[in-house]
Amino acid sequence: MKNKSKQALHDLGAIRRFIAPLSPPVFAFEASIRSSPFRILISVLLSARTQDPVTEKAAARLFAVADTPGKMACLSEARISRLIYPVGFFHTKAKHILKICQALEQGGPFPSSRDELLKLPGIGRKSANLVMALAFSRPAIAVDTHVFRISRRLGWASGRVPGDVEKELERLFPRRRWTDVNQVLVGFGQTICRPVRPLCAACVLHLRCPSSSVPHREEQPR
Ligand code: SF4
Repeated sequence: MKNKSKQALHDLGAIRRFIAPLSPPVFAFEASIRSSPFRILISVLLSARTQDPVTEKAAARLFAVADTPGKMACLSEARISRLIYPVGFFHTKAKHILKICQALEQGGPFPSSRDELLKLPGIGRKSANLVMALAFSRPAIAVDTHVFRISRRLGWASGRVPGDVEKELERLFPRRRWTDVNQVLVGFGQTICRPVRPLCAACVLHLRCPSSSVPHREEQPR
């Protein structure tokens, strides 16, 4: 396990350096929402089942009209729906945004623990972990579709559900790197290790990856 962890840590760094010049959408998205925990929370909620560039534009439209829980709570559900369209499930998300803003309006500290975040409508474990990591730099690994798929392709995890993969990744990486895992693997999934037809021939890990589609040359007997 020690060697596997060391290799995984090395590979995570190699992926980060490899994708940086490719400017994956997740980098711009996360940079655009980092101004406040409230913005991060609402943007993470909007991002479920929605591509990052679409989420980024929807969040920009919504925050241009209302940039605090108080102002957002004064908007109608229909107005929020129109502002965030075409994010996935925009009607349901508009309902959740209103309820969250009404709850935040009642005062008290901003929810920052997983338990507190999970009490908010529309916030599941993956979103709670992402908010913890992005807004409060708390160690958490958000296992979304990219993290789930790539961890299994690379042999970092074998779990069949995100919760199991999360536990495997927590054992594999030191806590100080947990917050990096989501951003790096999402960026990798958006550019190289795509869900369909991953670009294995161009991948920095193709010689080591157990799922590479690039045929490895057999070692010739001497
Ligand atoms: S070799 Fe292919 S499957 Fe493996 S990590 Fe790279 S892109 Fe993904």
